[in-house]
Amino acid sequence: MARIAVRDDLKALEGYHSPHVSVRVRLNTNESPTPPPAAWSDAFVAEVSRIEWHRYPDRAATELRAAIATLHGVDSNQVFVANGSNEVLQTLLLAYAGPGRTVATFEPTYQLHAHIARLTGATVIEGERNDDFTLDLAEARRVCETGNPIITFLCSPNNPTGLVEPESNVREVMAMAPGLVVVDEAYGQFADWTALDLIDEETPLVVSRTFSKTWSMAGARLGYLVGPSWLVAELDKVILPYHLDTAKQIAGRLALRYVNEMQARIDLIVSERERIQSAFASMPVHSWPSGANFILFRPTSISGRDVWRRLVDRSVLVRDCSGWPRLENCLRVTVGTPEENDAFLAALQEVLA
Ligand SMILES: *Cc1c(COP(=O)(O)O)cnc(C)c1O
Repeated sequence: MARIAVRDDLKALEGYHSPHVSVRVRLNTNESPTPPPAAWSDAFVAEVSRIEWHRYPDRAATELRAAIATLHGVDSNQVFVANGSNEVLQTLLLAYAGPGRTVATFEPTYQLHAHIARLTGATVIEGERNDDFTLDLAEARRVCETGNPIITFLCSPNNPTGLVEPESNVREVMAMAPGLVVVDEAYGQFADWTALDLIDEETPLVVSRTFSKTWSMAGARLGYLVGPSWLVAELDKVILPYHLDTAKQIAGRLALRYVNEMQARIDLIVSERERIQSAFASMPVHSWPSGANFILFRPTSISGRDVWRRLVDRSVLVRDCSGWPRLENCLRVTVGTPEENDAFLAALQEVLA
C-alpha cells in the first residue's frame, strides 16, 4: 500500500528529540529533582476519589484559573490554561500564526517556538544573538522591520543559555514589535524579575508559565499564560472543548496551596546553581550566567560530545547540545539535588582530569 504524503510544508520537519538513556543521575530535562510535597499527594488522592468520572470536566477550569489569577494578582479572564505550556504556545500559534504570517525567534532559544510555529504553517524568521547569547537589539529591530512578525518570542530565562532577558530589552522589543510579544517564563521563578508585571489590557504582551519545572509536576502536563482578556477569549475559541481533565484541574489547584514549599525548593536550587557555577570556575569549562535551574557550559579541553559520553559511562546524563546550531561543544546540566550535583561534579572532574 502506498504511504500517504504529509503536507508539503511538513516534509522537511524533524520531531522533537530528547534521548532517554537509563542512568542513575538524570540532569537532562530541567525537571524538579524532587516530587511535590506529601501533603499535596494526600489532598490530591482524597479529591480524586470523589471525581464524578461519568461527567465532563469543568470546561472553563474555573477554580484553577481563579487560583492562578490570585497567585499573580490578575483577573481570571486574563488566564488561559492548557496541557503544558507547549500546548499553551500551540494554541497561541494556531490562533495568531498560520499560513501567510511570520513568527520571530532569537536563536539559540527553545526549539519548540519555531517548531510549533512551522507546524501551523507560519514562516519563521530566526534572528541571531550576540556572540555571548545576549539579545542584539539592532538585529531585533531588523527582524521586526523586515519580517513584520505577528508573534515575537522571547524566553526569560532563555533555554538553553540560562540568560535572563533584562526588563529594558523586553520593553524595547515590545516597542518595536508590530504584533504580539510572548515571553516564555518556563523558568521565571528562578529569575530576579518577571514580565508578568508588564501585563495589562492595552498591551499585546503575554507571559507563559508551566507547572513542569518549579512546581515539580512535569508528569501532570499543565501550563498557562497570563495576558489581556481579549486574547484569552480568542484562545478559548481555538482550544478543543474539555481539553483539561478533571484530575489535572484538581492537581494544579491544590499545588498552589504549597507556595512556601515551592519557594524553599527554588531557594535550594538557586544556591546549588551558584555552587556548581563556582566549581566550574576552577575547571577547564566556560559557562554562561544562569537565572534558571540549569547551566549551559562548554568544556574547553575535550569535545562536548566526548564529555557527554564519558559522563554517561559514569551514569550521569546531561543534555548534549553540542550538535545544535550555534552551540558547538556545549552541554546543559539541570541543577539536581545536592547529592546529584555532587555526583555530576565528581564525574565531570574525573572526565576533564
Ligand atoms: C520546559 C519548557 C517548556 C515546556 O513546558 P511544558 O509545560 O512541560 O510543556 C516551555 N518553554 C520552555 C522554555 C521550556 O524549557
